[in-house]
Amino acid sequence: MEVDLHLHTTASDGRLTPEEVVQVAARKGLTIIAITDHDSVEGVSSAREAARHFPSLRVIPGVEINTDAPDGTVHILGYFMDYEDMEFQSGLKVLRHSRELRAKKMIAKLDGLGVHVDWQRVQELAAGGSMGRPHIAQVMLENGHISSFEEAFIKYIGRRGPAYVKRDRLSAVEAVEMVLRAGGLPVLAHPADISNLEALVVRLKGIGLVGLEAYYGGYRRSTVQRLVGLADKYELLTSGGSDFHGLGSADETPIGGVDVPFDCAQSLISLAEQREMLT
Ligand SMILES: [Zn+2]
Ligand SMILES: [Zn+2]
Repeated sequence: MEVDLHLHTTASDGRLTPEEVVQVAARKGLTIIAITDHDSVEGVSSAREAARHFPSLRVIPGVEINTDAPDGTVHILGYFMDYEDMEFQSGLKVLRHSRELRAKKMIAKLDGLGVHVDWQRVQELAAGGSMGRPHIAQVMLENGHISSFEEAFIKYIGRRGPAYVKRDRLSAVEAVEMVLRAGGLPVLAHPADISNLEALVVRLKGIGLVGLEAYYGGYRRSTVQRLVGLADKYELLTSGGSDFHGLGSADETPIGGVDVPFDCAQSLISLAEQREMLT
């Protein structure tokens, strides 16, 4: 297990700082990782800086853009973008702002249900990164409104919960275009559960999608094979990673916990080099 191309940090809803993620990855002997925070590249520089202490570890700049496709959870990973590009950063900022608005609306709904969630504390937990439902769940847990993280989602803020609020819509096409505009390689994240997957793959490939995340925490061998087959059929690369958030739940895949073939990272790097991207 040398490669992990899907990792979250405190720059979004992960619990470890970019530096900590790099340290853990290095300690585990990983050689190539990517920092892929939700709608944020704020953790990339510090991760790359921290990796200087570990010459055998390479940190690929990444991002994970959450979309609101009708077909379920469609997330677009981006690799090798020019993460210092101002236009890209301000585009991500707009997305994050819409996350804050959404969090505020959910907190108001929770209030109506008699569950008080302190906005200040949610902000504190998000710590300038992109705010998500896990932060709200954490505050509910701290205040004893719920007894487990999952309960927050099942009873309140999950898709079918009474305090759930939809996000402003961002299509998968728009997310792919955002990554391309910033000079990056777009990859479809954890695609196994997307309905009409093949049609989506065809549509996104048509505008520049380069890969599918075929190796992912919890995917069975048959699922991986199906996704690798789909990638082959449409001449897409495969990628993979743990989607580690550091939430500490029993079923969480640890950093480096997915058997991602080294070739996946190598092919992505080669393509980035071919296109003269920032590597
Ligand atoms: Zn995701
Ligand atoms: Zn993720």
